[in-house]
Amino acid sequence: MSLAKPKVAFYWCASCGGCEEAVLDLAEKVLDVVAAVDIVFWPVALDFKRSDVEAMPDKSIAVSFINGAIRTSEQDEMAKLLRRKSQMVIAFGACAHQGGIPGLANLWNRQAIFDWYYRKGPSVATKDGPIPLTKIKVPEGELELPEIWDTVKCLDQVVDVEYYLPGCPPTPKILANAVQAILAGKLPAKGTVLAGTKALCGECKLNSTKPEKLLIKDIKRITEVVLDPEKCYLAQGVICMGPVTRGGCEALCIEGRMPCSGCFGSLDKTLDYGAKALSYVASIVDVMDQEEARKIMEKVADPTGIFYRYSMPASKLGRKRQKGAS
Ligand code: SF4
Ligand code: SF4
Repeated sequence: MSLAKPKVAFYWCASCGGCEEAVLDLAEKVLDVVAAVDIVFWPVALDFKRSDVEAMPDKSIAVSFINGAIRTSEQDEMAKLLRRKSQMVIAFGACAHQGGIPGLANLWNRQAIFDWYYRKGPSVATKDGPIPLTKIKVPEGELELPEIWDTVKCLDQVVDVEYYLPGCPPTPKILANAVQAILAGKLPAKGTVLAGTKALCGECKLNSTKPEKLLIKDIKRITEVVLDPEKCYLAQGVICMGPVTRGGCEALCIEGRMPCSGCFGSLDKTLDYGAKALSYVASIVDVMDQEEARKIMEKVADPTGIFYRYSMPASKLGRKRQKGAS
């Protein structure tokens, strides 16, 4: 790959826009990036079109940073187009990495989601209004919209991915490190997650207050307690995913008095982040019998949303099975 002014693309799929903001969070360093690379596609900031990408020779883009999960036919097509045009694809952010927040839609299917948002939801004023169609005839001809899929996927479930930048969104530091490594041509083995290799607790300033044998008698929601900012949050009974989550974020949420919600995803040897997190929490709950265990786990208000918040599509189950589906 020629490293002189490499061509770079940024693209967003099923995304909230936060990953695009993360690029701007590089602050003045973004000017260094702009000076060092030739940005050839970035729909959120620059007026390039899909046809511009289609016209580029295959493999002419050095790196494409793609954020967001894949849940429409258009996102699938764009991911595949950018893959074809790029020497390297980086899954940028938790949604591209493991499915992220949009991946929680895998608890339902398209029909159930449409029913709620266009028919049954309490804020729907016109219960018999239109629902999104993929094709509609108008006097001028036929209009087409992308198809929304039943199942949200992460990026490497639709295209080959060289590297992953985790986080919701990735921190400016890991992005800057990745850009530097790319420009210097010093990249690790394909498939590497470009962040820490150890669990977050190792870089948390509260780690010294975490008991060696941690046991909790109760689970509390963050809204039920006034957290002592000097004591491990998990030891205070608030679920913190630090023990099972990849580090590299410098424990920014902990600094902001929020427990880790797991956006950097699983460690290298973890097969299923949610299963690992659930089994870890179950292992520290100090109860005498099943009834006590049941009562305490009932206090986990939204188990899927807590344990699989960022990783449902990448999990072993991938989605909630629908009745009758194979
Ligand atoms: S990873 Fe987080 S910040 Fe990035 S698009 Fe997904 S939800 Fe938004
Ligand atoms: S469990 Fe959370 S608060 Fe406690 S040391 Fe680990 S990251 Fe820090």
